[in-house]
Amino acid sequence: MKIVFVNVYFVRGSSGPGGNWVLIDAGLYGSANRIKKVAEAHFGKDARPSAILLTHGHFDHVGALKELALEWNVPIYANHLEIPYLTGLSSYPPPDPSVGGGAMAYMSFMYPKKPINVGGMVQPLPADGSVPGLPEWRWFHTPGHSPGHVSFFRERDRTMIVGDAVVTRKPESALAVLTDAPEVCGPPAYFTPDWPAAKKSVEEITALRPEVIATGHGVPMRGERMLDELDELAKYFEQMAVPTHGRYVNHPAIMNEQGVVSVPDAVSTPATKALTIAGLITVAGLAALAISRRKKNHKANAAEGPLDTHIYYGDEMNLSVYGEIPEVEDNELRRRNGPKQPRNNSKGNKGKDDFTGRNAPSNNYP
Ligand SMILES: [Zn+2]
Repeated sequence: MKIVFVNVYFVRGSSGPGGNWVLIDAGLYGSANRIKKVAEAHFGKDARPSAILLTHGHFDHVGALKELALEWNVPIYANHLEIPYLTGLSSYPPPDPSVGGGAMAYMSFMYPKKPINVGGMVQPLPADGSVPGLPEWRWFHTPGHSPGHVSFFRERDRTMIVGDAVVTRKPESALAVLTDAPEVCGPPAYFTPDWPAAKKSVEEITALRPEVIATGHGVPMRGERMLDELDELAKYFEQMAVPTHGRYVNHPAIMNEQGVVSVPDAVSTPATKALTIAGLITVAGLAALAISRRKKNHKANAAEGPLDTHIYYGDEMNLSVYGEIPEVEDNELRRRNGPKQPRNNSKGNKGKDDFTGRNAPSNNYP
């Protein structure tokens, strides 16, 4: 089911009368009624799932989460590294507007101003890889786009729900428009704070040889051409998916079970090509700051969009907003935390292969 620009999935756990189902991801704010209607159309009046599973907690995947979980009275499951962003403990790393701008401004009315809090309802996915409510499925940790991003895989028919680890989009070239076929591409750049992890995740998804990939954005794809495109993306990930410059290109954000630990400096002028990644600023204490800010900000954040409008974004895909707006400005973080921490003074090294792994490559994630 597509909600403006993001997909949610309804998955049966067992067939036959009385068979359960789960909802994977929860779309945009304001879409709860529509999700319920679609659920009832498929599973009968007053149908409710046995659980809501999350690929990750970006705002466009959790918009209707709280309302649905409360109304259905069902548990929510997410990877343990995603839980800080679902319990009000931490905001996601700030988005990187230097990797694209247009759609970001266009969609900014949808930005929530604070992390959602479904504490008490959300619990970690089982550590053994099993998926609550879906006995045939396994979950795989596919971080990069977010620290606790997961994909769900059913071996029987090799169906994989990949969230935003890869997305599909309409091609942009004139020639491709004629065929109008979607294509496999990397995670939305604007909200991906760890590119080495994102690359590794694409490699792992590719290694599973899925027959179908169902993405958070764009249409699901299947078959050999999809696999070929996945192979190509995994092989040429730096060229195809990683922006040529940007805040997180050389230094990923550092995150742990408590949320964001540190993020690299924002690039000074988004438009400039000669970017300087000036090292890390420490944002320990982000949670406390975020919480104090939240207390001051009681504004409602209604973000109901035109739910029946289908937006085809072409090259906006990689520019779109997927995640949280930063609650704490960099200057404020720097002022409060900067002096306590030594600055990394390495400058100007923009080489893709300069990544040394010192700033938490993907294997920092369990
Ligand atoms: Zn996302």
